[in-house]
Amino acid sequence: MDFSLPPHLTELQTKVRSFIREKVIPFESDSRQDSHGPHESLRKDLIDMARAEGLLTPHASRELGGLGLSHVEKAIVFVEAGYSTLGPTAMNIHAPDEGNIHLMEVVANEDQKNRWLKPLVRGDIRSCFAMTEPAPGAGADPSMLNTTAIKDGDDYVISGTKWFITGATGASFAIIMAKLEDGSATMFLSDMDRPGINVVRQMDALDSCFAGGHGVVEFKDLRIPSRDVLGEVGKGFRYAQIRLAPARLTHCMRWLGQAQRAHDIAVEYASTRQAFGVALGTHEGVGYMLADNDMDLHTSRLHIWHTAWLLDQGERGNFESSRAKTVCAEAECRVVDRCVQILGGQGVTSETIVMKIFKDIRAFRIYDGPSEVHRWSMAKKIIAQQH
Ligand SMILES: Cc1cc2nc3c(=O)[nH]c(=O)nc-3n(C[C@H](O)[C@H](O)[C@H](O)COP(=O)(O)OP(=O)(O)OC[C@H]3O[C@@H](n4cnc5c(N)ncnc54)[C@H](O)[C@@H]3O)c2cc1C
Repeated sequence: MDFSLPPHLTELQTKVRSFIREKVIPFESDSRQDSHGPHESLRKDLIDMARAEGLLTPHASRELGGLGLSHVEKAIVFVEAGYSTLGPTAMNIHAPDEGNIHLMEVVANEDQKNRWLKPLVRGDIRSCFAMTEPAPGAGADPSMLNTTAIKDGDDYVISGTKWFITGATGASFAIIMAKLEDGSATMFLSDMDRPGINVVRQMDALDSCFAGGHGVVEFKDLRIPSRDVLGEVGKGFRYAQIRLAPARLTHCMRWLGQAQRAHDIAVEYASTRQAFGVALGTHEGVGYMLADNDMDLHTSRLHIWHTAWLLDQGERGNFESSRAKTVCAEAECRVVDRCVQILGGQGVTSETIVMKIFKDIRAFRIYDGPSEVHRWSMAKKIIAQQH
């Protein structure tokens, strides 16, 4: 097993690392951010910088203007980007756009690519992905989908309410998951300014790292022409899987970068801050936390690399991506939590970026499948293998 990086990837890693540390991190204190994420003018400035460096939307195919990164290559680049809270926004590799780009490259037709995917890859616009609904609709169990799509002539008429829709405010278009009269699920593409779509409100969330925050979106008799069905009618859940396995893994990568940043800050503090006559890190209680961090970071990295490698071999990797997602979400959250503790009072203030990372990372154990659901689905497969 060869873990060494080929020269082109080492070069790219170095380039992304210096871009993030020298150009993006200074923007972390930019005032154009609030509890619903970076403002559009800040996003545009960051995107322009990444474009100038040739680092914009690197996961998109070369044909579309990206770097055509494989999953393993993404594992190197996205972790570096994640080192800054603004890195994924700058490089146009944040959720939900990153996953939407991946899905649309696989499934969208040429007309849809020209209308929506190309401006998305250029970073000119943002998108959102609308699946989750308030009870009794789809949540951890996506099959509880309540939003309906009724065929009417050449149109589909969509009605329902979605929530937690990341980036809905300010998005130019949405991928909407709705169920047909026969109960099957279909994905639809729609501009956000069509009559019948209303972003009712933004939700107050613990995190503030996604442009546009998280919105409640109402669809009231939204008419979508059948040419705007994404892929084939009735294949919504299959396409959700195409999007989800890689999208889960890229969350693991970006959050690994964030956890590594928090750890580096904690190491620096533990090495220099004195207590009871010695540096903090020489106290066993603190030193062990640093060692535990190192183990959690390394375990996350190995799960990411292995699962990325499987996806590059053409495997669907559903089981492995569930495993990686759960391991990484929990390990990376533990790392950041320990960093808060090591920093003492400063850990819960904005004196360092660690507090923001702590608030931003928590939801990762819930979205793209809560840990419990991944464990439950893995358990079913483990038991099934016995029979
Ligand atoms: C910050 C954030 C961003 C999001 N962005 C988007 C987005 O852009 N688009 C979108 O469509 N959705 C988005 N979501 C929604 C997210 O995918 C859902 O929150 C998630 O699927 C859980 O659904 P729910 O909130 O309805 O929880 P519920 O379905 O009500 O589940 C609640 C809890 O029950 C437990 N549980 C559920 N099933 C099982 C089981 N089988 N075994 C054991 N325990 C179980 C889990 O602990 C779970 O957390 C986002 C959520 C958050 C927090």
